[in-house]
Amino acid sequence: MTTSPYDILFEPVKIGPKTTRNRFYQVPHCTGMGHRYPQAEAAHRGVKAEGGWGVVSTQETEIHPSSDLTPANEGRLWDDGDIPALQLMAEAVQAHGSLAAIQLAHNGHHATGRYSRQPTLAPSSTPSDWGDPWQARGMDKADIKAFRGWHVDAAKRAKRAGFDIIYVYAGHDMTLLMHFLLARHNRRSDEYGGSFENRLRLFREVLADTRDAVGDSCAIAVRLAVDELMGEAGLRHEVEGRDIIEALAEEPDLWDVNISDWSNDSQTSRFAKEGYQEPYTAFVKSVTTKPVVGVGRYTSPDTMVRLVKSGHLDLIGAARPSIADPFLPNKIREGRLEEIRECIGCNICVSGDNLMMPMRCTQNPTVGEEWRRGWHPEVITGDKIASERFLIVGGGPAGMEAARGLVQAGHEVVLAEASDAWGGRVAIESALPGLAEWGRVRDWRLWQLQQKDAADLYLQSRLSSSDILEYGIGQVVLATGASWRMDGVGRTHRLPVAAFGALPVLSPESAMQGGLEQDDGTGPIVIYDDDGFYLGSVLAELAVQTGREVVFVTPEAVVAPWTENTLEQTRIQARLIQLGVTIIPLHEVAEGDGSTLELACVYSDARRQIPCATLVPLTSRVPNDALWSNLKEHEADWDAAGVTAVTRIGDCYCPSTIAAAVHAGHEFARTVTGAQIDPPRRGERVDLSPER
Ligand code: ADP
Ligand code: SF4
Repeated sequence: MTTSPYDILFEPVKIGPKTTRNRFYQVPHCTGMGHRYPQAEAAHRGVKAEGGWGVVSTQETEIHPSSDLTPANEGRLWDDGDIPALQLMAEAVQAHGSLAAIQLAHNGHHATGRYSRQPTLAPSSTPSDWGDPWQARGMDKADIKAFRGWHVDAAKRAKRAGFDIIYVYAGHDMTLLMHFLLARHNRRSDEYGGSFENRLRLFREVLADTRDAVGDSCAIAVRLAVDELMGEAGLRHEVEGRDIIEALAEEPDLWDVNISDWSNDSQTSRFAKEGYQEPYTAFVKSVTTKPVVGVGRYTSPDTMVRLVKSGHLDLIGAARPSIADPFLPNKIREGRLEEIRECIGCNICVSGDNLMMPMRCTQNPTVGEEWRRGWHPEVITGDKIASERFLIVGGGPAGMEAARGLVQAGHEVVLAEASDAWGGRVAIESALPGLAEWGRVRDWRLWQLQQKDAADLYLQSRLSSSDILEYGIGQVVLATGASWRMDGVGRTHRLPVAAFGALPVLSPESAMQGGLEQDDGTGPIVIYDDDGFYLGSVLAELAVQTGREVVFVTPEAVVAPWTENTLEQTRIQARLIQLGVTIIPLHEVAEGDGSTLELACVYSDARRQIPCATLVPLTSRVPNDALWSNLKEHEADWDAAGVTAVTRIGDCYCPSTIAAAVHAGHEFARTVTGAQIDPPRRGERVDLSPER
């Protein structure tokens, strides 16, 4: 029998009365599919089990109407009627020999009650987390007793739904059990508040209740935040984090440990590298004999082996790496390491939960489509049409993914890229401060394509419409991207603004590719961000490297507001402040004259003038569709040239995220007819038929 350095990752681990077949553990994570799309949810989790994750968990699952998180779309186990949907998920996971885990949650004052209209609950009367004009009710003893009963009921229902592992959840500053632990939330003077032992009481009781209720046949896991990165104002791993685990060390069957809040737990690659939680969770195994699982965006098998061998973790926890590559464990087991599709740490997946929509992933376009469209992350069958040749113009994420998928489906492709590098915007943006890991979008696809004879790859090949017609390849795919506008048109100004023509404007594309260093302006660089996502702030960071003064102007109230959805906004704004960038929020460009920029307050129109030696405007993008227009003009010649169809995909069809470009490329590879003529999608409709 051959041995591999990674064999240790495939050892079974006993978790209470259950045994997981290996050390790969998909910790609970939201999907945006939750209780509203149970079939999509089940299919998504089932694919992870198929890909080799030994344990696959639900997302947080509300145990009672007073924990209603509407409009967020999490799991729900309010009563027996919720059992079948969760059973579907457990069965999908167990069908592949994996253990199914469920994260029971009462969200305390983090719940909303917006659907249930039940008062939310807290250790002490306190405002809602969401800015709603209602408070969470400070719990009396009867409430505490009722809560314990709800948790027991939910645990019994979870067992009936077939789950192997049942969580008691005290993490992320978003659960009642953590709220009781934290002195800033728990201001009680009875035996549930005050001293550490009193604040721990409810957690201890619920853990014991859960064991009494289901511990004979289900493993009991605890998910606990051991640090909040708040210093003395919060939980610290060396102090109370450690005390909690010492106090309950042998009580659960498994410790699932992380840092809180969610923005600390799920940091992006811009702010944290693989293993960023290790300094906080390393101590846990020294105070318990129970298995420990932890996370840190682990995609490297060598790192995983180190974590196990060094006695840091027993189980390699993952949310995002399991989303980006549901087959990561199987690929390691089969020695197919180059095929691992590594998470890039962009948190587009997280935006799904925050925007209450089914999750999507930049690296894995099949996420959220497993049930709805029957997409498998590892399989594309070319049964839609017979094998054909495709000419793909543009080697960005859309073009590369289309090429990769078409080859996988059994077609031949010619991929032509104008520049001397693969990756399109990914090649450019991954060279910017903090975004290096984004290059994995290009690297994974390029490696796949380079393995295949059916893919002819050409750099430095800018194609014109006549080149394309001369090629005479039947199926032409345009993936030529989009360009940032220079005329100010964006969300704030829907028409061009004269000021942009009267100022020394540097395009974002130039700024990203050395233009800022070469710029001979001597005054401030002004980044005008009407886009609101990450790029404006990244360009501000780049501009700081020139040593010139940098001013960030935005019509928004904060820097990069959309990055709230990727959990980065606070970090981004803090970083710009630390770098000395002057931030001018709530202002739009009004006038420009040489080196003076006049700004207008978005509320009052009050004007102020600032010096501006170089203006970098991020407003909106226009599709690069000149090639498309040219080809359309010559449509009469297509037939004679042998061209049967021309399809635009990605940013040249509609500017969007990198995730959307990858999805568009993938969609084309599967459907060939392209995004425009899509087959009907499966929906999870409510059955309103009279006989229901
Ligand atoms: P998307 O996100 O839709 O993939 P990108 O802007 O990232 O779009 O990539 C588009 C790629 O297309 C760029 O690398 C660009 O150099 C390339 N491109 C644009 N026009 C042509 C052309 N006429 N011939 C070949 N490549 C082109
Ligand atoms: Fe990773 Fe980004 Fe995919 Fe999330 S969306 S799993 S962060 S690659």
